[in-house]
Amino acid sequence: WSKETVAVVTGGNRGIGFDICRQLADHGVTVVLTSRDTGVGVESAKVLQEGGLTEVACHQLDILDPSSINQFAEWLKENYGGLDILVNNAGVSLNQDNNYQYENARKVIETNYYGTKRMIEAMIPLMKPSAAGARIVNVTSRLGRLNGKRNRLENDALREQLSDEESLTEELIDGMVSTFLQQIEDNNWRSEGWPQKYTDYSVSKLAVNAYTRFLARKFSERPEGEKIYVNCYCPGWVKTALTGYAGSVSVEQGADTAVWIALFPDQAITGKFFAERREINF
Ligand code: NDP
Repeated sequence: WSKETVAVVTGGNRGIGFDICRQLADHGVTVVLTSRDTGVGVESAKVLQEGGLTEVACHQLDILDPSSINQFAEWLKENYGGLDILVNNAGVSLNQDNNYQYENARKVIETNYYGTKRMIEAMIPLMKPSAAGARIVNVTSRLGRLNGKRNRLENDALREQLSDEESLTEELIDGMVSTFLQQIEDNNWRSEGWPQKYTDYSVSKLAVNAYTRFLARKFSERPEGEKIYVNCYCPGWVKTALTGYAGSVSVEQGADTAVWIALFPDQAITGKFFAERREINF
């Protein structure tokens, strides 16, 4: 990896995303730290630049805003010719388990799932061909596992469909999140077998996990030299604003596996779920 390698990180201004930027830059990669607030992004990039990581650039990017994504894509193409690594880190968690608000749930699904998806769709045409393959890393969560010990998808039919590579389609995943949101709006979601904890957040991460596997299958058809490897990972319970700084691991530890996946040596690892540098079950 060299400074010719270009990595884009969403939500790079703070938390886990900021440390992913720092660690990638530390490996000699050129990093584009993106932030929905330009001023905040510039300040965050400055911290890294002043620490000696001179190959860090910054650009505005709000993954909820298609025009922001388009402007970013144009800027990236013009200034860097594209990218090699995309880390989809931006995410929100807005509801409390005992007080579900439809508007919050909608925003969580819109940001964590549709925002990530929109970003991937916009970046695919810009991913540079290379022997090592371009890389996409999605920051998800163990809360979005199909068969998690503590947070399981109890809807058997849906779980089976999502587990089966053959029946995994974009329509199935989009349909799942829209059914979920409709049930939240109608306030009849509690008996429908969704994960018990942080339900809207968990469904959003379940959707990105499933989308990761779907994409890996789709990308497998790409010719050698134009491969894109896509994986997801759980950073653990990390001390950031998202957890009210109540986590058990630091942002450095939380960012570590993202960087490890992004910089895998030339190996075609794709469609997997990781935590603490190990593969885990979806
Ligand atoms: P933070 O709240 O510290 O950071 C979230 C980042 O996402 C911020 O940079 C925020 O920007 C950005 N963001 C939110 N919405 C948008 C948007 N629409 N467009 C662009 N950027 C946006 O949380 P974490 O660092 O903890 O979270 C990072 C990722 O890790 C998330 O995807 C989260 O779900 C995931 N995760 C975190 C865990 C934890 O324990 N902390 C556990 C499992 C997963 P801004 O500063 O402008 O708000």
